[in-house]
Amino acid sequence: MCSGMGIKMKRLSMRAKITLWFTAALIMVVLFTYFIMLTASNQILQKTIRDSLVETVENNYNEIRYYGSMEEVAPDKDASHFLRFENGILEVNDDFLDAVNQVYTGLYDDDGTLIYGENPVSGSVSDIKFMDSRIQSKKVKGVRYYIFDRKLSAKGMEGLWMRGVVSEAQGTTQMTGIIRLSVIILPLLVLVAAVGGYFLVKGSLRPLQQISETAVQIGRENDLKKRIDIGAGKDELHQLADTFNDMLDKLEKAFETERQFISDASHELRTPMSVISAQCEMSLEQRRSPEEYEKALQVISRQSRKLSKLINDMLEFTRLEAGADRYKKEPVDMTELTASLCEDMALIRENGITLTYEAQEKIMYTGNRELLSRLLMNLVSNAYRYGKKDGHIVVSLRKEKDAVLLSVTDDGIGIAREEQEKIFRRFYQTDNSRFHAGIGLGLAMAKEIVHFHGGEITVESRIGEGSTFLVRLPC
Ligand code: ADP
Repeated sequence: MCSGMGIKMKRLSMRAKITLWFTAALIMVVLFTYFIMLTASNQILQKTIRDSLVETVENNYNEIRYYGSMEEVAPDKDASHFLRFENGILEVNDDFLDAVNQVYTGLYDDDGTLIYGENPVSGSVSDIKFMDSRIQSKKVKGVRYYIFDRKLSAKGMEGLWMRGVVSEAQGTTQMTGIIRLSVIILPLLVLVAAVGGYFLVKGSLRPLQQISETAVQIGRENDLKKRIDIGAGKDELHQLADTFNDMLDKLEKAFETERQFISDASHELRTPMSVISAQCEMSLEQRRSPEEYEKALQVISRQSRKLSKLINDMLEFTRLEAGADRYKKEPVDMTELTASLCEDMALIRENGITLTYEAQEKIMYTGNRELLSRLLMNLVSNAYRYGKKDGHIVVSLRKEKDAVLLSVTDDGIGIAREEQEKIFRRFYQTDNSRFHAGIGLGLAMAKEIVHFHGGEITVESRIGEGSTFLVRLPC
């Protein structure tokens, strides 16, 4: 049965669960309140009744005086009552209150005969023995009465008793009224809270429904442009919606970059492919001279070399982008790496360009050796490719307090200011480099490698004067 309940609970909507939960909690609070009301307040009420009983009797106690004869009575006491008692006179001052706040006070002699005052249940409580300064209680016809006695002890009043009687009926009637009212009002309040709570929860959870609907739509329509719009707000659900939208922004950007990459890559591949097929078609159209065949073959060979470089670069780039964690970091002797690479590349001497390097002793850096060589190679290849005839390339390696700095400077064609930021994008080439052998992936790859190491790459350049690429790798 319990597990059946569990399954049923699981099937309930969140708003029903929350409403059920706090309605149950409210009912518990109400029941607890009833309990407290019935016990604590009843006790308090009884105590109040007893206190008022004692207080009234004590007050009246002081309002009785005894005089031996009428002559002893002060002449201005006409507001008082006078009673004959034994051989003298009893004076009951006008302040004696025989019935106040449902407390009835009376003056009795030793036999229990009422001399003055009132007793609401005369017959029934008169058989209770007088006891000085004690509260006694007795039930008469289902109603409890409290009785408080004081023995009068002043001269001439020996044998007199003052008795106060109060019923708890008055208090109980008040209590019954309060309970009757709360029996109606409290469940009504629970009902109002439950209904109000249900709609409040329903309203608060509506954004969650919108989030889930948007997610379903995106999945169904493959439209990453959709965003969740639940209006302004700062609560948890708005934060969730913002996080979700941020994630969609990133996903959209990533998909867009991928799409752009595929479109750029196919565009780059198409150019050499169409040159190769045009050369083939032209050679096969009719008989050609051996020189013409040789020229066609040279073009085909050059274009296929370009194709294979393009494919290699693309493969390497996507591999680096997709799985940077494949590359392990280990201590690399940067001085040795720069020296050996520069010595090899200095042999190229393309266009009469000379390459020199300056490196501080034994600079160690924790990174990936293969990627760091690739980075330097790309920068130096560019310096050759865009260098001027008989120009110079200077590679410099030095260490600062918290970073290794690697720079490659050339005195080549330079890069216009407005293009300096764009050259790091994939497949981006400046107009004056189109006829060079590059494909526009070298610097994008360099940037990716530097980011993999947590560093940054910047360029300083002037058209016609040359460029310096500066890599900063934090230690
Ligand atoms: P590419 O394969 O075209 O060389 P890169 O990503 O290496 O591609 O470079 C992008 C563009 O940046 C190049 O096309 C070129 O216009 C410019 N560039 C890169 N290095 C230099 C340099 N040392 N001097 C002048 N221009 C450069």
